[in-house]
Amino acid sequence: MAEQRIAPTPTNFAVWYQYFAGSHDDLRNAIDLLIDHNRPFDARTNQDLFETYVAPQVSATAVDTSERLHALMGTAREFLATAIADNHSQMRVISAVADQGKAGVDPKALVAQLMNELARAATKATQLEAGFAEKTRELDVIRDSLTRSEERARTDTLTGLANRRALDEFLRKAQATADWGEPLSVLMLDIDHFKSFNDNFGHGVGDQVLRLMAKVLREKVRPQDLPARYGGEELIAVLPAADLACCAEIAERIRRALAECTITRRSTGEILPNISVSIGVAQYRPGEAITDLIERCDRALYLAKGGGRNRVVTETELERARAAG
Ligand code: GH3
Ligand code: MG
Ligand code: MG
Repeated sequence: MAEQRIAPTPTNFAVWYQYFAGSHDDLRNAIDLLIDHNRPFDARTNQDLFETYVAPQVSATAVDTSERLHALMGTAREFLATAIADNHSQMRVISAVADQGKAGVDPKALVAQLMNELARAATKATQLEAGFAEKTRELDVIRDSLTRSEERARTDTLTGLANRRALDEFLRKAQATADWGEPLSVLMLDIDHFKSFNDNFGHGVGDQVLRLMAKVLREKVRPQDLPARYGGEELIAVLPAADLACCAEIAERIRRALAECTITRRSTGEILPNISVSIGVAQYRPGEAITDLIERCDRALYLAKGGGRNRVVTETELERARAAG
């Protein structure tokens, strides 16, 4: 942590404890990628790592939900045991009545006994049904809360996009399909000169811009694609069944839409300078590691930065640039 100049805070310790414990592959890969790319572990990155990989594991909601679920399962088990015991006792009464019938006991008395038993069974069944209905409602509440906490664990709080954890999962699944020959492409975008935008207009306005970028990205990709927040001001979209040309076309649409966005400072209504993004595009090569795909995409992105920003660069140009020396 000292090597990476990471402040010794409880959340940072939690992240790096997990990193060294080696029990969390996604966290390990994310940190290794940051180190490999010489990315600084600034306060925001550290917070992202904690929120994405560590916080979901210790979520109080999860603990609370699991306790409630346990209690509910206990009640359901009691309900079932009661229903089975009731059933047994009714069977005993019925067979006793049958025996008495064979022994020539007055049928009227037997019918009265049976009706009595039926009425008791009906009351018990109604009570059980009401109990089950109530528990089913509780179960629905728990299921909704589980779904919400699962969603939270996979969503970036600032932009509402998928976070790194959801991205990693999506990429793993998409990779499996792409290994069968289906194309798979990614585009990665980084806001141009965002530091000076933050410096000039404040971090709050910067956050507003990031949310706007996320909204445009979400609108421009196809329903089957996954737009996600890769890191601080870097967004990514994974496009299954899209080749490099298709992905580059979508990237170009995103770049243009963002460059044309008018940004207004909410508090004053002041129109702020336009923001542009640089985008790198790469296509998965069957059999390669996902980190290789991301790295290629990242290199294309930085070629776009070097080429003057506000542009889309694909991995093809990367090869061309390398061939040209
Ligand atoms: P370049 O065109 O080369 O990308 O220049 P840049 O200034 O955008 O690049 P650099 O990587 O030096 O700076 C990224 C900046 O993004 C620094 C940081 O303040 C800002 N940033 C990262 N995450 C957030 C965030 O969540 N909110 C805000 N407002 N700013 C962020
Ligand atoms: Mg950046
Ligand atoms: Mg930038």
